[in-house]
Amino acid sequence: MTDETTAEVAEAPIVFYCRDCKKIVEDPVKKGNKYEYSCSVCKSDRVSFGTRQAVSDFFQAKLPKK
Ligand SMILES: [Zn+2]
Repeated sequence: MTDETTAEVAEAPIVFYCRDCKKIVEDPVKKGNKYEYSCSVCKSDRVSFGTRQAVSDFFQAKLPKK
């Protein structure tokens, strides 16, 4: 019995995507207590986040291969 595949799914990384930079941003600034983030590069509030797969699908972002 192996749980290698389930462990992989459980560790799906969350990524942040700036819709103004049109790219993944590494260290967004959290705004107060809300689940809102500002882009650390352009200061835009238009930062979305989700799993790498979800962001990739939704924004069709070109994500760097790990
Ligand atoms: Zn940005």
